[in-house]
Amino acid sequence: MFNLVIFGAPGSGKGTQSEKITETYGLHHISTGELLRDQIARGTELGKIADSFISKGQLIPDDLMVRILDAELDKPEAKHGVIFDGFPRTIPQADALSKMLAKRGTALHGVVGLELEDDELIDRLVKRGKESGRSDDNPETIKERLKVYHTTTQPLREYYINDGSYKGVRGHGSVEDIFSSIRTHLDALKANEPI
Ligand code: ATP
Ligand code: MG
Repeated sequence: MFNLVIFGAPGSGKGTQSEKITETYGLHHISTGELLRDQIARGTELGKIADSFISKGQLIPDDLMVRILDAELDKPEAKHGVIFDGFPRTIPQADALSKMLAKRGTALHGVVGLELEDDELIDRLVKRGKESGRSDDNPETIKERLKVYHTTTQPLREYYINDGSYKGVRGHGSVEDIFSSIRTHLDALKANEPI
């Protein structure tokens, strides 16, 4: 059992690195962004609510987000360890996460933060927007998402530094080089974890 958070600004590469981590460590990937986009594509009630926030670059309310996560954690595939991608994004979500894990007799074992500057993030998101068709990858919404990131999500970096679980990794360079830094850290972390 090994639970990890991959942390970082919009466009920092959380999804890409999560896939590599999932392959290598056999963890279950929970991407809140993908989960919500799937609901939007299927036109569900939840999708409609989610879209009203996402298209403006705002966060989905904490109570709703926590309920979604709680249901995801009840799935059998989540029992052997999860990589949380896009969650938590606020301090209340982080508090809720540790409670949800404790309730299931487990805990968060580490947080990997992908660190890079806003200029690079904006470049990447604008490029992605040209192909992804995502309603939030346009210059105006990107600006809002970065603002929300700095005011509401970035304080979590401090939060996880203070509890000793944060490891920052440089988010520049090739996917393989970044993953190699992550792997060095995770191998050390795993070696200290009773399985
Ligand atoms: P990355 O490119 O690093 O994968 P991202 O910010 O582009 O990250 P997602 O994680 O896919 O994108 O999230 C897209 C949107 O979904 C967010 O901007 C937000 O509106 C909503 N969302 C996702 N996770 C949460 C959450 N934990 N709390 C509130 N809203 C969320
Ligand atoms: Mg993503």
